[in-house]
Amino acid sequence: MINKDRAIKMFCELVQIDSVSLNEKGVASFLKSYFTNLGYEVYEDQVSVQKVPQANSGNIVVKIPGTGAYVNHDPIILEAHMDTVEPGNGVKPSVTEDGKYVVSDGTTILGADDKAGIAQIIEVEAVLREHDFSHPPLELLFTISEEIGILGAFNIDTNLVTGKTAYVLDGGGGPGTAIIGGPDFYDITGRIIGRASHAGAAPDKGISSIQVMSDAISKMRLLKVDEDTTTNIGRVICDYPTNVVPEVTTFEMEVRSLVPEKAQAQVKHVVDTLQASADSFGAKLEIEVGQSLHAYHLDDSLAIIQNYKAMCERHNLTYNGMVVRGGTDVSGLTFNGINAICLAAGGEFAHELKERLIIDEFVANTQQVLWLVTEIDA
Ligand SMILES: [Zn+2]
Repeated sequence: MINKDRAIKMFCELVQIDSVSLNEKGVASFLKSYFTNLGYEVYEDQVSVQKVPQANSGNIVVKIPGTGAYVNHDPIILEAHMDTVEPGNGVKPSVTEDGKYVVSDGTTILGADDKAGIAQIIEVEAVLREHDFSHPPLELLFTISEEIGILGAFNIDTNLVTGKTAYVLDGGGGPGTAIIGGPDFYDITGRIIGRASHAGAAPDKGISSIQVMSDAISKMRLLKVDEDTTTNIGRVICDYPTNVVPEVTTFEMEVRSLVPEKAQAQVKHVVDTLQASADSFGAKLEIEVGQSLHAYHLDDSLAIIQNYKAMCERHNLTYNGMVVRGGTDVSGLTFNGINAICLAAGGEFAHELKERLIIDEFVANTQQVLWLVTEIDA
């Protein structure tokens, strides 16, 4: 039923449209004209345009009316993100000789993350049209800037996107696999301000900011803090001539946890440790803590999980509900009051030059989406 050749052709067309984060316009225009030509209502989400002005497009929303028995059913959202990581421009896709994979030429990523998800949605719509299946109203949501902080999904126009159930097609693995939980994520940035002094003539008059930072780092719980919680320092900058006691050191770090209380406790530990070191040396600490993701863990009793599990049972798929510490658009949708799970798209080795599309899994995952939108209340 899924037209494999057509879906792969569409996938290859999509990956050849450049769309690294903030430059989604090419893919957005493609989708706009593709779905407008099919006669659907297509919108550019103006909330995302306003809230993410650095991007050259907003989220794209396509409204597909329900048909047959499900014409008045609640809408279902099918979602994928339009942006890719770098190096993602000038992708040259090809199918491997054994016919199993689509790969890039090795100089760029492929962009299966997440154009496999977009291609799945396009194929599902095509099959629905061909076979005249009954289905609920569908809201197709194509987001911007997922890779740089889930900006599009956090900033959707909830008056435009009205569905309360969403399948985000952006995971790894085959059918049956669903991401049902994600982390709290805190960004911590700041600077330690010591006192400059001549390193030879009057070092005792100075306070070395990098020494304060080192002291704090040596006392901090880092990396895998516990089963749920991680902490990493990504950047420490202190750049002075050697004859100057360095006045300022800046830093950037992150804390993630699947358990909000643990995340808060770890953030407090980081801040307290930095403050104690600053105090003991007589330095000053300036620090900012921002929360860019909110933890979620969907309860098994929710309809979206129940429906997904029932679909797995009907089609002999092994259900595998996973909780992961990485972010997906699910975090943004959940934040906006939408029940969402992340399903496998069909790629592997995301963000690497060896990224590839596993053709069989991609087709099977597309079939799974088709079941989810046609077997309602089965
Ligand atoms: Zn992705």
